[in-house]
Amino acid sequence: MDYSILVNKASRLPRDYVPEDLVEIHEPTGSKLDKTYVNRLNIVAYKAFKQMQAAALKNGYEIFVDSSYRTYEYQERVFNNVAAEKGLEHAKKYVALPGGSEHQTGLAVDVIFRRNNEMIEEQKTDDPEIMWLFSNAHKYGFILRFPKGKENITGVNFEPWHFRYVGKELATKLFTDNLTLEEYHNLQKQRTPI
Ligand SMILES: [Zn+2]
Repeated sequence: MDYSILVNKASRLPRDYVPEDLVEIHEPTGSKLDKTYVNRLNIVAYKAFKQMQAAALKNGYEIFVDSSYRTYEYQERVFNNVAAEKGLEHAKKYVALPGGSEHQTGLAVDVIFRRNNEMIEEQKTDDPEIMWLFSNAHKYGFILRFPKGKENITGVNFEPWHFRYVGKELATKLFTDNLTLEEYHNLQKQRTPI
């Protein structure tokens, strides 16, 4: 598995792409999640998440995986439903195209928090859990995938809940250099002589 894999509008996964090493996850989830949905994540990413979760807990923050692996067909359904309800242009703007969601890699997580025994359904940038993740996720191999101020590069609005596993080394590099995965891949391309 290439943990630096880039998936976005321009670089989509085929319909039959199913990642290896997915494990089922059973954690508390939010009320908005479809109850038939089963969380699955790449095993390496999940082990890293568990370490991050334990470290967060030491600081008093309870973080969980709310949504993780999604199939091509799942994304297609989501996209088509939004398109049917709000129009194709709206769907294209706000929903990842089928094959264009990195949730299909099994390396992406949408996180949710529990505070005083209550799931926090609306994440805000100044949530202490979010702030802790912003500054510590890279130590466990995760990056904030769609940061504020980089919307024109990622093509996705700021998502403070969406973290992507890329491995410790790359996550630390991207964090330190303030780079998105798109910028990293562009730099790699420029470095490779054609
Ligand atoms: Zn997400």
